[in-house]
Amino acid sequence: NLDDIFASVRSQFPALTQKVHGKNLVYLDSGATTLKPQSVVDRIAHFYSYETSNVHRGAHYLGDVATGHFEAARQKVAEFLGARQSEEIIFVRGTTEGVNLVANSWGLSNLKAGDEILITVMEHHGNIVPWQMVAEKVGAKVVAADILDNGELDLEDFKKKLNSRTKMVAFTASSNVLGTNTDMKLLTKLAHEVGAKVLVDGAQIVSQLPVDVSDIDCDFFVFSAHKLFGPFGFGAVYGKKEILDQMPPYQGGGSMISKVTIEKTTFNDVPTRFEAGTPHVEGAVGLHAALTFVENIGLDKIHKYEMDLLNYATGRLLEIPDVKIYGTSQNKGAILSFNLKGAHHSDIGQILDQEGVAVRAGHHCTQPLMARLGVPGTVRASLSVYNNREDIDSMVKAVVKAREMLL
Ligand code: PMP
Repeated sequence: NLDDIFASVRSQFPALTQKVHGKNLVYLDSGATTLKPQSVVDRIAHFYSYETSNVHRGAHYLGDVATGHFEAARQKVAEFLGARQSEEIIFVRGTTEGVNLVANSWGLSNLKAGDEILITVMEHHGNIVPWQMVAEKVGAKVVAADILDNGELDLEDFKKKLNSRTKMVAFTASSNVLGTNTDMKLLTKLAHEVGAKVLVDGAQIVSQLPVDVSDIDCDFFVFSAHKLFGPFGFGAVYGKKEILDQMPPYQGGGSMISKVTIEKTTFNDVPTRFEAGTPHVEGAVGLHAALTFVENIGLDKIHKYEMDLLNYATGRLLEIPDVKIYGTSQNKGAILSFNLKGAHHSDIGQILDQEGVAVRAGHHCTQPLMARLGVPGTVRASLSVYNNREDIDSMVKAVVKAREMLL
């Protein structure tokens, strides 16, 4: 029984035992970051308590232990994403740094004046701004494919904007506002047909559906650990080995070198070439624990449970007059962006907060999407494995109250 399984999952999140403003915490902001299960917190504490060491294999016992855990995490991420080998996984600070790495390393050495980078209008700023910065340096242009009114990608517009000048296609697997999932495999195939490389922003997909980068055939895939029950400040870039091998370093420093003289430096192999300096070792260890947590439940069950909850939440929210939901595709993650006609999103967010309901109200780092929707912002409720129908009922009650107060 799914409800029993997820009641037990919920009990692994101590954050949910708190009261805020005197009310039971209802956490509906998992699109911003997920809460952390006790197993992840314990694993990181254990690492700091007993295994703290920098990662130099062969220096001493604990150095070997830490290095072993760091590389085991890389292997785990490779398996999780369906990469062919662990060398295809580069550890970074998160999705944003991952996109910046690819934009700067691959972009600066492959893009030239007149080239185009195709994104979509629903991208997070993290998958827009790095491309604009690189485009400006080399004289390339960022072009965005539109969405349909239901929040799905406008495939015709995407195809229209794809041409022989397109050298990179960078798109989200799942919108952090509309919830819309994109067809990663199809978009990748279309991009490859014109000879473009593909980067998938996986920030919102990894916690909801299984990903197989080898099957998708994308060239790069990036995600953040903190949106997947793991620690902040950590994430990964998947890149095809043959492409990574050709890419110059992103940052310089220790570890990423082969030989350094004052005159010249030669660089280490992939992936170390892209990991300058002391890495976020407990980030890797924590992400490993988070992946084990996800695996123990199973993404198939997670997806089914979240879709059930999303349907329930959508139905309940639409019972309230004046509610408008943005993103009504059948193919979406458990995210509900909405407004009350005639009320400001931040007022709604504040009233919900007073009721103990944590949502996000604003532009969600997607200003071009807000412009496309013609609104300054939305209220966003994003669901995860620890939410249940009572959480939805609490939110709905709070929205009804907000409506009474604001309209
Ligand atoms: N892309 C998407 C779709 C996101 O939801 C986010 C986080 N809100 C990011 C990119 C950026 O992730 P991070 O802040 O962890 O680098």
